[in-house]
This record gives sequence, C-alpha cells and structure tokens, in this order.
Amino acid sequence: MTRRGSVHERGTTGPQDAQLEGERSEREQAAGPALTVEAVTVRFAGVTALDGVSFAVAPAAIHAVIGPNGAGKSTMFNVVSGAYRPVSGSVWFRGTDLTRRRPHEIAGLGVARTFQNIALLAGETVEENLMLGRHHLTRTGFVTAALRLPTAAGREERAHRARVREIAAFVGLGDKLGAAAGELSYGDQKRVEIARALCVEPDLLLLDEPAAGMNAHETAVMAHLVRDIRDALQIPVLLVEHDMGLVMGIADRVTVLDFGRRIADGTPAAVQRDPEVQRAYLGTGEESENS
Ligand code: ADP
Ligand code: MG
Repeated sequence: MTRRGSVHERGTTGPQDAQLEGERSEREQAAGPALTVEAVTVRFAGVTALDGVSFAVAPAAIHAVIGPNGAGKSTMFNVVSGAYRPVSGSVWFRGTDLTRRRPHEIAGLGVARTFQNIALLAGETVEENLMLGRHHLTRTGFVTAALRLPTAAGREERAHRARVREIAAFVGLGDKLGAAAGELSYGDQKRVEIARALCVEPDLLLLDEPAAGMNAHETAVMAHLVRDIRDALQIPVLLVEHDMGLVMGIADRVTVLDFGRRIADGTPAAVQRDPEVQRAYLGTGEESENS
C-alpha cells in the first residue's frame, strides 16, 4: 500500500524505508538548516516589501511562505534566487552566503527555481525544454560536444536524454515528451516547468505559486507532486503560495508574511490557529465567505 495517491511510478515504501527516513532525519537535525534567511529587508521606492524577515528551511522539508497579495512572497523568492538584493540581512545556503551573488551563481550552487508565469519554449517539445535544463551538466555544452568525437558526444547526450525521460515520467509527463510545450494543458505546462528545474539535479527547489490558476483537481495533483519530490529526492522545497489550502496539506513548516512582516512561523496547524494569521487572511476575503 502506498502512503499517498500517485501521479507516477515510485519506489515501494515499507518498514525499511521508514527506518531509513528516521535515520536521515536524525542526521539532518544534527546538520542544521539547509537554507537560512536572516533579517532580510527589501525596499522599493517608498515600499518596504520585506521588513527584517527571518526563517530557516530544514533539509528535505517542504517550507511554505504564504501571505495575502502584496505580502512580499515573490520578493522573498527573488531574494533567495538572487534576482533582488536586500538592503540588509542575509541568505545562507549550506554554509554559503548567497546574499550578494548573481542569479546564475546561485543556480550554479544547486538552487533551481520555477516562475510564477510559465516560461517555456512553447514551440519546442517537452523533451527539448527539459534538455535545456541539462545543459549546464554537460562537460562542455552540447554545441561543443558535437564537435568532439561523435561517439563520446553521442554517449553523453544519450545519458542526458535517458535522465530527462526518467524525470518526465516522475512528474507524470512520460507520454508527453514529443508534444509541443505550448500545446499542453496549463497543469501540464506547470509540470514541465518543475521537471525542467529537476533536470538540473537541484539541492534546493524554489517554487513560486505552482498551483496558481489551477482547478481543485490540478491543485491536488500538484500537491502530491511536491510531496513526492521531497520524499524521492530528499531535497528542501521552498514553496511560495497564495492558497492556504494547498500548503496546509503538504508543508512541514509555514512562514506567514503580511505587508512585508513575518507574522507567524511554525507547523501548518499552529499557524492556522494563529489569530494574526486569521486576521490577515480574513482581510483578503479568501478564507471566509462572509468578508
Ligand atoms: P506577493 O508576492 O506576496 O504578492 P510581492 O513580493 O510581489 O508580494 O510584493 C510586495 C510589495 O512590494 C508590494 O507592495 C509590491 O507592490 C512591491 N513590489 C514588489 N516588487 C516590486 C518592484 N520590482 N518594484 C516596486 N515595487 C515592488
Ligand atoms: Mg507573488
């Protein structure tokens, strides 16, 4: 019996796995957080988008950053991925200071991201979109690879294509590799984006509103996928999300932002009960039919 619904094949889970997970979590506790955000402040002409925000993401944890519109979620995401620089505070990933690094350097350190708005090559196949995610893993890139001995280049490319097929199957796109990305359903396109991020073999995955614009069914499938990624790859996932419902079911820990300030940080159950969180969400009218 599996512990959860599935969108794809996965390894079996049994007592042995439970024991392995137990050992792993002991090791991880000893190792400390994978990602640490310390007193980060970001300002845009007149707006304090983030005001001294701190939180820590444990290894192999799904950590959600939630909050109403304008709370500073995307800004936080952009600070971690290097698109924005904070005026003060710092971001550490496995002992490395990310704060003043450029996006490509942060990507090079194993931090992969998706975008809130889909950014795929619409006319290219799913397979080619995913192969782009492999590019930095090739020793010299596919272009120069083709100039080397044909056999060696061919071997390297075949290995990458095999891994791409594996990842596509994992996210539930095994039968869509030949389809043009732009012709897929919205939910499938979101999955291609996540698959592309996985193709870089990341050590930290950043997802910005992966379920935005999805219906209830697609959202549930996405929630399963995020959980499967954590379980199968044992990497931390930082999930920025507007929809409380999605994160409550899958997050190990939740940081709540409102107007750039951290108003709560804890388990999903604890933040859900928090009066200030309830107030913040009631104000937006989305968690209550009366407001
Ligand atoms: P969220 O993702 O939680 O909806 P954002 O991080 O996008 O919130 O925005 C937080 C605040 O910062 C908002 O007031 C927004 O208008 C402002 N903001 C975000 N990005 C920029 C930017 N590039 N320039 C100016 N203001 C911005
Ligand atoms: Mg946003």
